[in-house]
Amino acid sequence: MDHANTLASTAAKVGFISLGCPKALVDSERILTQLRTEGYEITPHYEDAGVVIVNTCGFIDAAKEESLEAIGEAIQENGRVLVTGCMGRGEDAKTILARHPKVMGVSGPAAYEEVLATVREVLPNNHRPDPLIDLIPAQGVKLTPRHYAYLKISEGCNHRCRFCIIPSIRGDLVSRPIGSVMDEAEGLVRAGVRELLVVSQDTSAYGVDLKYKTDFWQGRPLKSNLEALASALSEMGIWVRFHYVYPYPHVDALIPMMAQGKLLPYIDMPLQHGASSVLQRMKRPAASEKTLDRIARWRDICPELTIRSTFIVGYPGETDAEFEELLAFIDEAKLDRVGCFQYSPVKGAAANQLPDPVPEELKQRRWEQFMSLQQSISASKLQAKVGSTQTILIDSVTEAGCVGRTSADAPEIDGVVHLPGSHEFHPGDWVEAEITAADDYDLWVS
Ligand code: SF4
Repeated sequence: MDHANTLASTAAKVGFISLGCPKALVDSERILTQLRTEGYEITPHYEDAGVVIVNTCGFIDAAKEESLEAIGEAIQENGRVLVTGCMGRGEDAKTILARHPKVMGVSGPAAYEEVLATVREVLPNNHRPDPLIDLIPAQGVKLTPRHYAYLKISEGCNHRCRFCIIPSIRGDLVSRPIGSVMDEAEGLVRAGVRELLVVSQDTSAYGVDLKYKTDFWQGRPLKSNLEALASALSEMGIWVRFHYVYPYPHVDALIPMMAQGKLLPYIDMPLQHGASSVLQRMKRPAASEKTLDRIARWRDICPELTIRSTFIVGYPGETDAEFEELLAFIDEAKLDRVGCFQYSPVKGAAANQLPDPVPEELKQRRWEQFMSLQQSISASKLQAKVGSTQTILIDSVTEAGCVGRTSADAPEIDGVVHLPGSHEFHPGDWVEAEITAADDYDLWVS
């Protein structure tokens, strides 16, 4: 008997597990929106799902292992599993099939059509959506809370950083035309979104592949470039936050808009190292830019600018002198929020071929030294906010009170503001309040 048809005659319900970064989350949202549009129901339970889709992450080995475990659990609990996302290509796809031969289909990142075609095949859906009953939210299905949303402006990357396998998974840069990005942004704002988080692999490269061609939005010509996008988004009356921006000269154009309060004064700029010799060995974008000078100029124009970044210690060949240069860099840059990783090889990355690996104990020592210096910088920057009045976007309300974020805090990666005892606000409200205390990560309003 055809198992798929038996299931379809009752209810076409799909389970969904979304792993990985904000870009993968956007892919999940697109697939879910399309499924809902076609009349499928989304269920949070393994038991009543006709098929379970796992959107995987293949960024580092730990993420791959987590994806493989999630697939294993879905097979054990449900048995009918489709896999998509970053692990769905090349060697990783073979690993999935070797470890979980019962998987019913595997597709790569952003392969919306392929996933949907397989769902239609293994779980035919006789139920046609009734527009009056099956209301699909105009902004599509969002996995983030209703008041903030990720806005993906491009896919892929033209760089070839030696430690990264993303270009081999996602391909070269493909930017969305600015009209389509703005249509999506407008729909989200109309649906109640108060904060848009602009994401991509390389936001500063937006439009390069389109040769910055002019597109139209609401009958208005707009160039597909970062400045025009930032300027158009800044007119929407919401918070606009930029992620994955590199310190190229053309990014300077965003800073006056931040100083004027049109964009959030926040840049997420993964720098990875402070020594230009290491950056060159990493083949990093903007490796030869004078980043400290640029940051100083940006802060002159917009003193309240928050900069978040990530760094890698223990990259192959990193000498004591280069590590000291990194420490001197973060000491001078005084970045607000910083993540630091010890270098670890990722299967398929060009950096694996490099000589002079840094011993594990030395990596650990360098990481501890880096973290203790940065923690004191971040903590004193937070401490300096005590006594200031901040605009806070409320994210959640619990029995203990409200939790929100200031313009300096991106959801999920930065700190939060606790407002203990206050229950009068709702998620998505903007509240003005004086900061009364700070610890190493979070702020308090008492
Ligand atoms: S900029 Fe470098 S690290 Fe980022 S996605 Fe492109 S190749 Fe990978």
